[in-house]
Amino acid sequence: MTSTAPDPHYSPATLAVAAGRPERVAGAAVNEAIWLSSTYVADGPVDYGRTDNPTWQAFEAALGALEGGRALVFGSGMAAIAAACALVPQGSTVLAPRHVYSGTGALLREAAAAGRVHLREVDIADTTAVRAAVQGAALLWLESPTNPMLEVADLRATTSAARAAGALSVVDNTFATPLVQRPLELGADVGVHSVTKYLAGHSDVVLGASVTRDDDPGRALHARLRAYRHLHGAIAGPQEVFLALRGMRTVALRVERAQATAAELARRLFTHPRVERVRHPSLPGDPGHDLATAQMRGYGAVLAIEVAGGAAGAERVAAGTRLWVHATSLGGVESSLERRRRHGAEVTTVPESLLRLSVGIEDVEDLWADLDQALRS
Ligand SMILES: *Cc1c(COP(=O)(O)O)cnc(C)c1O
Repeated sequence: MTSTAPDPHYSPATLAVAAGRPERVAGAAVNEAIWLSSTYVADGPVDYGRTDNPTWQAFEAALGALEGGRALVFGSGMAAIAAACALVPQGSTVLAPRHVYSGTGALLREAAAAGRVHLREVDIADTTAVRAAVQGAALLWLESPTNPMLEVADLRATTSAARAAGALSVVDNTFATPLVQRPLELGADVGVHSVTKYLAGHSDVVLGASVTRDDDPGRALHARLRAYRHLHGAIAGPQEVFLALRGMRTVALRVERAQATAAELARRLFTHPRVERVRHPSLPGDPGHDLATAQMRGYGAVLAIEVAGGAAGAERVAAGTRLWVHATSLGGVESSLERRRRHGAEVTTVPESLLRLSVGIEDVEDLWADLDQALRS
C-alpha cells in the first residue's frame, strides 16, 4: 500500500512523478497495484470496495501533493461536481459563472428547476458583479479559465468575497491543472477536476476528483465529500484510476508542451484572415491576460476561435482537419477541436462560430499547417 510521502516542497513536476508510490522496501513494486477486490479481510485499513481502494489512495496521494490538499477520486468529473454542489443545504443560493462548463450549468439549472437551489448567474470576469451577487449565497462556483469562453476570474478576490459573505467557494480547475494553477492557495475551499482531461491525459478514461485543504477548519469537507462518494456510489473503477495515475506521471511534460504550442498557435491565429476572434489569456490584448499572468503559471492549452462564415463556416473547419480530431472533450495528447454550439446544452451566448481547440503534444508546425489548410479550404 501507498506510503512514504515525498517532500512537499518538491516542485510540482517532481511531485507528479514521486508521490503516490508504494513503500521502498526490498523487492517492492515501484507502482501501486490495481487492487481488484470488492471486500477485504476484516479489521484492516480498507474494508469494502465502495468505501476505499489502495489504487485510489495512490492516485489521491499524487493529486493531493500536486494541488496542495487532500484529494478524492470520483467516477467522473460530474460526480465530483455533484458531490461538491451537495455540500450546501437544500434551498441554498448558488452563484455560478454564466459560461460555466455546460454539464455543471445543466446540473445547477436542473437543481433550480426542482426547487433544490436558487441559481444566480454572473459574468465571472466581472469581480465587482461577483462581490455584489455573492451576498446571501451559500456557494460560489468558480471556473477559470471557463469552458469554452476562456474567461478568467480573479480567484483571490472572489474567494475572499465568498468567505466574507459566509459562502463556500469551489473552483473547477480542469482547464488549468495543478501545474498551472493551485486554487486552494488562491483561497478556494474545494477544487474539482475532470481527471478525464489533462490529468489522465490520454483520452482513455472518464474520472473526476475533488481536493480540499489539509487544515479545513471545522467543516470536515473532505469527510463529507468522502461520505457522498460512498453513499451515492460515485466511485471509480481501480483499472481506470491506475491508468489515470500512469498518465499523471507525465502531466508536467504534457502541459508545458501543450500550453507553449497553444500560445504560439493563438499568436498566429490572431492575424489569420479567416479568424475573427481568438480567445486565449496568453494574448496581451485578451481581457483575462493580466489576471492570468498574476495567478497562473502559463495560460493553459485550450483556446477558442471564432471563424468567418458563422456556424457553417466553423463546421467546415472542424470537418476539414486531418491531424486535429473533430471530437468533444479535451486534454488528451492528441489535438482536437469542436464547435461547441452543436450541443444543445451549450448556452446561446457562446457564439455559433466558436471552435474550441484543445492543443495536444504534436509538433507545432504540423498542427499549424493542418489548421491553416482547414481554415482556408
Ligand atoms: C469535461 C469537463 C467536466 C466534466 O467532467 P467529466 O469527466 O466529463 O464528467 C467538468 N468541468 C470541465 C471544465 C470540463 O471540461
